[in-house]
Amino acid sequence: MTEVLKQPVTVIPGIGEETAKLFEELQVYTVEDLLLYLPFRYDDNRIRDLAEVQHDERVTVEGVIVSVPTLQYFGRKKSRLTVKVMVDRYVINAVFFNQPYLKNKLPMNQEITLNGKWDRYRQQITVQQFKIGHGNQPHSDFSPVYSVKGNLTVNSLRKFITAAFKQYGHAIEENLPEFLLQQYRLYPRREAIRAMHFPKDAQDLKQGRRRLVYEEFLHFQLKIQALRKFQRENSGGVLIQYDNEALKKFIANLPFPLTNAQKRVLAEILRDLKSPYRMNRLLQGDVGSGKTVVAAISLYAAVTAGYQGALMVPTEILAEQHAESLMNMFKPFDVEVALLTGSTKKKERTAILEGLQDGSIPIVIGTHALIQDDVNFAKLGLVITDEQHRFGVEQRRVLREKGENPNTLFMTATPIPRTLAITAFGEMDVSIINEMPAGRKEIKTYWAKPQSLERVLQMMEKELQAGRQAYVICPLIEESEKLDVQNTIDVYNQLVHYFGERFQVGLMHGRLHSDEKEQVMKEFSENKVQVLVSTTVVEVGVNVPNATMMVIYDAERFGLAQLHQLRGRVGRGEHQSYCVLLADPKSEVGKERMRIMTETNYGFVLSERDLELRGPGDFFGRKQSGLPEFKVADMVHDYRALETARQDAEKFIHSEEFWKDDEFAHLRNYILESGVLNGEKLD
Ligand code: ADP
Ligand code: MG
Repeated sequence: MTEVLKQPVTVIPGIGEETAKLFEELQVYTVEDLLLYLPFRYDDNRIRDLAEVQHDERVTVEGVIVSVPTLQYFGRKKSRLTVKVMVDRYVINAVFFNQPYLKNKLPMNQEITLNGKWDRYRQQITVQQFKIGHGNQPHSDFSPVYSVKGNLTVNSLRKFITAAFKQYGHAIEENLPEFLLQQYRLYPRREAIRAMHFPKDAQDLKQGRRRLVYEEFLHFQLKIQALRKFQRENSGGVLIQYDNEALKKFIANLPFPLTNAQKRVLAEILRDLKSPYRMNRLLQGDVGSGKTVVAAISLYAAVTAGYQGALMVPTEILAEQHAESLMNMFKPFDVEVALLTGSTKKKERTAILEGLQDGSIPIVIGTHALIQDDVNFAKLGLVITDEQHRFGVEQRRVLREKGENPNTLFMTATPIPRTLAITAFGEMDVSIINEMPAGRKEIKTYWAKPQSLERVLQMMEKELQAGRQAYVICPLIEESEKLDVQNTIDVYNQLVHYFGERFQVGLMHGRLHSDEKEQVMKEFSENKVQVLVSTTVVEVGVNVPNATMMVIYDAERFGLAQLHQLRGRVGRGEHQSYCVLLADPKSEVGKERMRIMTETNYGFVLSERDLELRGPGDFFGRKQSGLPEFKVADMVHDYRALETARQDAEKFIHSEEFWKDDEFAHLRNYILESGVLNGEKLD
């Protein structure tokens, strides 16, 4: 059957050698290629209610002309004609470029049908097509628009595809098992491709697309999961036979019960540790969700099995805080915890290096100092990195190679929606702490214009008078650290002046020496300093529960994920906390982002909204996201389908039927042909 689809495009009437050459440019060689050459968008011929139309969307509307046209010239040839049109209850502007002769053809009270791009903010349509009068729309609601090159036109492409479908459409075969079509009420493949090219209406198009999106995601997920399974089965890792009773005692000794989410991720981690393959897991949890204690228990598990554990963090401040809290937790169990950073004194450093090498030090916490050449471990079984986005792939690899295939756990507070995380980080497993310890209060977040600074400071004064403390954050821009430091110093001086003798203000930025930083942090945590003006260096890990207010200058210059992390410095104690975003964003998206911050305290909701607004490239940083590209599907908008496909693929890959039953033959072949099982890399 499918053989007929493998024929060259020239079997289609009207396609000769010359046209076939044009098709080669589009990578279309066979009838099948042509049938799968899908539109990249549709002209929407429906008459729409403008209230429902998105900004920049192309629409068709019917209206009545209610003004005399005005004509403007730019230079000799360029012109712009604007006329007001009443559409339903709105008066909008219709703009025609470079058609000055229309000035006398658009009389008042004339009925007109307009098609073009809708600018929601200007309430205006840039007209691409129009027709005097109403009614007589094209017979289909949507006209497919194909991307074309050279002498091929959209119209000729439409014609060829129509011919191809008529003649060979019957040969399109199903490639998904029947039960999946039933389960999700998906269009059969042939029907879906038909709907993409010749949609009957919006519903039909949606169903066609939905089917192809699922198919595309399922294929992709089968491929990466097969690869993962393959890698797992072929990577000898460290098997950690931890002492369950000891762990139970350790957990019982904590000053609080674990949350359900902490228990769940811990079980996932322990299952990995005990298994013969190497753990490679990402642990995500909102700021304050309690990742540190999960790390501590995991480290202890390694220790009870006779292994060493290392925890690497990006800053010295954080290393010290972690060391302190871990030392407290481990003291009753007589487990030594060493701290190794750039400022560890030489003598102490030598002793620690010896202890790590001969295995007498079971747990070490440190900064980049941990990955230096002379740091060697006797029996490294578990490597954890905190705030993993701060470390490059290379640094993580170096630490990992200090042991023989040790288990690795990456912790991050950057909330990346699970499905995206799995896709973006390829071969990692993902655990998510999606619950906060009980009793946490929501941080009240406000968005204020810079003009309202005075009122914000009054609010801060009230908090300080009540005995609380405050952070003031100034942005740091990498291109010009110097300017930012200056900016931070200016704000500092301003606040010193404002608070006078009443409160102490401290200053913190990247140019200070590490002992100066330490000094300031110490004074702040001891409440000798009440207001800390800082660049984003406080972003990670700092814990001062008495701080209840944060003011962020130029908040529009931060990403949402970063604002959220910063905000997490407050709300750590028993008192109500506040975060004020000083921002004057110019764009709608910028305003929307500030609004989102005021509406949710929940990092995963935030990241999903941010993703919708900006797309995955922006979220992960400038298109180096490494996220795959799909033909029909869109990882952001079809997020739920991606999750469904992931679960299905996981189930299939681990089931026996999948590898032998006939109904899975197509999917199996797909995996085999992709080459992942031969150890080939994914594209
Ligand atoms: P993060 O996930 O941001 O690293 P931390 O591990 O620093 O969060 O935890 C934040 C605070 O919550 C710490 O003071 C910690 O002791 C506390 N904490 C952690 N788990 C719990 C829990 N299950 N119940 C109550 N408090 C907890
Ligand atoms: Mg932390």
